[in-house]
Amino acid sequence: MSYSNELMREVVIDHIKNPRHREKKEQLAKATVKNPACGDIMTLYLAKEDEKIIDLSYEVTGCSLSIASASMMSELLQNKTIDEAKNIAHHFYQMLMAKDYDSSILGDASALASVSKTPPRIKCVTLPYKAFFAILGEDNEKF
Ligand code: ZN
Repeated sequence: MSYSNELMREVVIDHIKNPRHREKKEQLAKATVKNPACGDIMTLYLAKEDEKIIDLSYEVTGCSLSIASASMMSELLQNKTIDEAKNIAHHFYQMLMAKDYDSSILGDASALASVSKTPPRIKCVTLPYKAFFAILGEDNEKF
């Protein structure tokens, strides 16, 4: 999937205005993570069955980019296996590092590619992925 700049902006704005799956689900596994540089705080809720993600939602107090990224991720990882989700996280990170990545698996999240040009904001968009790894009990120093 390739987006024009204009369309990318629209995709991002749509997720900011209408965040998907933004919901507190206390009964699920959860993790709260922070991005002190920007003040973003996010709690991610996740349910899996076998190794498949069957429910994913979040609460966030933060900047527009952190909200957009959480919304995109919540759509992207639904019904994916944990391994598929980790692969998506890897390609998302590669994109932000301006390295080779597979945009075809990133869905709307590929609209955040330009964040690679503003390094201080990278931690805003990687925050939901940091929460994802935290729920898995894995420390991934990239996020
Ligand atoms: Zn932020």
